[in-house]
Amino acid sequence: MEVFGAATAELERLAADLGEPPYRGRQIAGWLYRKNAGNFSAMTDLPAEFRRKLEAASTLFRARTLARSQSADGTTKFLLELSDGQRIESALIPYTDRVTVCVSTQVGCAADCSFCATAAAGLTRNLSGGEIVDQVLTLQGHAGERVTNVVFMGMGEPLLNYDEVIKSVRLINSEVGIAMRKMTISTVGITPRIRKLQSENLQLTLAISLHAPDDDLRRRLIPLAQRYPLNDLIAACRAYAEATGRRVTYEYLLLAAVNDSLTHARKLVGLIKGSLANVNLIPYNTVFGKDYKRPQAGVVKAFRSVLQDAGIETTERFERGHAVSAACGQLSAGAGSGVG
Ligand code: SF4
Repeated sequence: MEVFGAATAELERLAADLGEPPYRGRQIAGWLYRKNAGNFSAMTDLPAEFRRKLEAASTLFRARTLARSQSADGTTKFLLELSDGQRIESALIPYTDRVTVCVSTQVGCAADCSFCATAAAGLTRNLSGGEIVDQVLTLQGHAGERVTNVVFMGMGEPLLNYDEVIKSVRLINSEVGIAMRKMTISTVGITPRIRKLQSENLQLTLAISLHAPDDDLRRRLIPLAQRYPLNDLIAACRAYAEATGRRVTYEYLLLAAVNDSLTHARKLVGLIKGSLANVNLIPYNTVFGKDYKRPQAGVVKAFRSVLQDAGIETTERFERGHAVSAACGQLSAGAGSGVG
């Protein structure tokens, strides 16, 4: 069995199977998730004989950090290698009042968003819950301070790896100690899974990569979206917000002369007005090999005004990490990830 990614109860059972009392399992969990241990020999308060048994009966794999690059604003992008040699990216984003880690949930992605560098490679495989938690703790180790927030916004579509993502959410909450409310799941909008997520009653923040206010344009930008019509998606989001009391964030990537007109802004207002929601505008960052362009600042401002005048709380994403291509939709441009 791989111990990293196992919950305390499973580790208690492992200890019992090896002839030790259950509290030994809790000690292992403490070493893995709170002391960030990378191997069994680091677990110095376990008897040496028990450590030998653990090594024989289980594995402990932690991602290898292959490379990292830091931008002037402090955002650091990490290239990590998994046990089978696959590579993913994660980002550490320090703010004055919090430390956020952006995790990947899949190797590659099947959503095929037209603006995303990850899309070209397609999906290779899902990450396990342990591999997702590992990103949080590996980056915490590099940061030297506690991670306070986790955004599932890196490579992959989280809701297409639903079970492992939910497993990782529960582990990050119960084992690492980060509150559910400090975690954000970002999705292109897999409507049935949003309804399922609502039924879990987890208090997670939901972010929808909307990027277009009508189905025709959305299908062009996010081919996977054609399976999930906007009206149905927005209805599921409204229901999620009402059931959880959590405001839904609509991410809107602004692409020059594609989705940034005042007509688009008014349509967007029509779609989400009256719901517990806010909009995050993301002026496009250049991705190598993509034809899209970033709108002029005046266009962004005018788009934002339409939303604000309609009473919709609107922010503009501060482009941390741009210089190292770690802003969303960019982890893979020179290698990574999505606005999804
Ligand atoms: S933007 Fe997100 S959902 Fe879309 S292809 Fe890229 S990683 Fe996948």
